[in-house]
Amino acid sequence: MSSRFARRFRVGQTAPPGPHASIWVFAFRRRELLVPIDRPPAPIADLEALGLAQIRSQYVGLLDEVPVFSVELADGVEAPPGMTFRDLRSLYGRLEDALHEAASRAVQLVEWDRTHQFCGACGTATLALEQERARSCPACGLSQFPRLSPAVIVSVERDDEILLGRSPHFPPGIYSVLAGFVEPGESAEDAVRREVEEESGILVDRIRYFASQAWPFPHSLMLGFTARFEAGEIRLGDELEDAAFFCFDELPRTFPGNVSISQWLIGDFVRRMREGR
Ligand SMILES: [Zn+2]
Repeated sequence: MSSRFARRFRVGQTAPPGPHASIWVFAFRRRELLVPIDRPPAPIADLEALGLAQIRSQYVGLLDEVPVFSVELADGVEAPPGMTFRDLRSLYGRLEDALHEAASRAVQLVEWDRTHQFCGACGTATLALEQERARSCPACGLSQFPRLSPAVIVSVERDDEILLGRSPHFPPGIYSVLAGFVEPGESAEDAVRREVEEESGILVDRIRYFASQAWPFPHSLMLGFTARFEAGEIRLGDELEDAAFFCFDELPRTFPGNVSISQWLIGDFVRRMREGR
């Protein structure tokens, strides 16, 4: 969603010195964001006034010039009157882009903070570092940073056709471009080649970077690529129940909307084919 007055979100490590005239608070019950039911989200001044107690809070960044904080709420907490808890996935296209970006960072910081209160090596309680986003162990010195899992997503093209597959987890009839996580020790391009071959039996070349998208489910960074069919016949791996090349003007059903990088890749392919490029 965009408008003439679109806000801008910038990632931040340390909060600007207060007091702040206003702040945004993104409060989560596990991975669900507290949002108003019938109106757009607005800066929340005081969680306590809403009857909510925070367990922990993190600085997230700036929405325009207004500091944003994430807040972890207790598991069983009820939403105050007029508000509800929603999964971020269901808020794509409903929340302004900048708010979604901030919320996407906020939920990952909340989850990371909640699950790294103790050292993964020796079990000692960890301490937050001041100048960077990390928790450190006072006993053994291990530093733990928020985890990001890079994944590749790729539009494989053969003339005017695109390779699409169907996971058994997709809604009925829906196809999408292929995707998978990058393995330790692998480049993103290697991951593209390996995933496409594993899932479909197709070999690709001419791999080109397209765009990326933060994908907080739970902590991915989606790296989008285009690639050209090089050789092979469709041979399904373990992850897909179907895969095929589809002509750009005879595509199967794909995920609706235009909020995810899979939709951007398919849309870009169709646009280029229609324009005869
Ligand atoms: Zn330790």
